[in-house]
Amino acid sequence: MISRSLISDSALKVLYRLKKAGFQAYLVGGCVRDLLLGREPKDFDVVTDAHPEQVRTVFRNCRLIGRRFRLAHVHFGEEIVEVATFRGLAGEEENGERVLENGRILRDNVYGSIEEDAFRRDFTVNALYYNIADFSVVDYVGGMDDHKASTLRLIGDPEQRYREDPVRMLRAVRFAVKLGFGIHPECAEPIPKLAPLLQEIPAARLYDEVVKLFLGGYAVQTFEQLRHYGLFAFLFPETERSLASEHQGFPLTFLAKALERTDQRVQENKPVAPYFLFAALLWEPVRVRAQARIEAGENEILAYQEASGEVIGRQIRRTALPRSVGLPIREVWALQPRFERTQGSRPFRLLSHPRFRAAFDFLALRAETGEAEPSLAEWWARFQNASEAEQKSMARTGKREANRPRSRKRRTRSKAAGNVTAI
Ligand code: ATP
Ligand code: MG
Repeated sequence: MISRSLISDSALKVLYRLKKAGFQAYLVGGCVRDLLLGREPKDFDVVTDAHPEQVRTVFRNCRLIGRRFRLAHVHFGEEIVEVATFRGLAGEEENGERVLENGRILRDNVYGSIEEDAFRRDFTVNALYYNIADFSVVDYVGGMDDHKASTLRLIGDPEQRYREDPVRMLRAVRFAVKLGFGIHPECAEPIPKLAPLLQEIPAARLYDEVVKLFLGGYAVQTFEQLRHYGLFAFLFPETERSLASEHQGFPLTFLAKALERTDQRVQENKPVAPYFLFAALLWEPVRVRAQARIEAGENEILAYQEASGEVIGRQIRRTALPRSVGLPIREVWALQPRFERTQGSRPFRLLSHPRFRAAFDFLALRAETGEAEPSLAEWWARFQNASEAEQKSMARTGKREANRPRSRKRRTRSKAAGNVTAI
């Protein structure tokens, strides 16, 4: 059932060493779920009845992390195997270790039995244990049946489990899409009603979750499902509004293309940068705000700068953006209006900008989906590959009519007029 050849040597070493020291040792969670599908897990989580201090005595290459709930990290060069002690289900009435607020878990840090450990996990297919002592899969929650039926089902009462931790709604979508599983109807049903609970989740945690949702290789379907369940609106409120008020369909096309491109890159094992994803997800709100400012007579460059600041300022209340992500997002946006200036020294300056490549990819995407002038993207594609002499001659005249492409102007004006009141 489970092929040990798919388990990393390091994980096997940890399991066997714990067993030899007289402890129980299991693989649990995503790795067991993936092994049962015959897929190679991306990491291995081990659980044991040994307490962290005991784990440390078994391994020399071991560090204890976490203050409230301590975990052991066993290091093997680059690879880390995380070893956790079975966690209990202590209710708030017991010893106050599990702190709840409006049904939401704030802290829990009590050790327990393997069975208790199983029941505090989210989905039944995430609560399967692979026992190194006899190579069996231990199942307390009906996870094997759900796994066979390709069903994602919360352990316990769905509404209560979502209220305890609303991020589980996002995890439901993420796993359903990634595994090709269906969300059990009883677990799908309460999501639209409970989606607003995401507003109570710290923005930093939502940022991490969004990155997992969109950079896991299934961004297109994930986006569709998040919108289907009404979750997307609580992650990207302004984007949702711009999509809802859209009649011509092109922001949706643009986003869909950007997400498709992201999935392709993941599939080809090429790096995917969170900033490019966020730049795409938030582009329409920026564009609409900038257009409104331009129509009101503001300078184009400044209009984009101001609009970017506003959109980012609002977005970070939902999903915190690390500086290393916020800065390149702004750069990609700020360079967009500069592409329209193709004469004199300006195109040379743009070409040497450190963010040129990403910004050009972004422009190409816009052009592909009808929001920017395709001939402008073509001009830049030629310009960056041309010889120095050709470049000089191209920049002498610039791309004629590039500053005011007709189709773009027509579109943006009607859009801006329609959206100003909505902001
Ligand atoms: P991935 O392939 O994305 O790593 P995973 O199932 O391993 O999937 P993790 O976020 O690494 O997901 O979590 C490991 C395990 O911890 C889960 O399988 C689940 O059993 C448990 N878990 C994680 N997050 C929660 C949560 N919010 N509520 C309950 N259990 C959780
Ligand atoms: Mg995992």
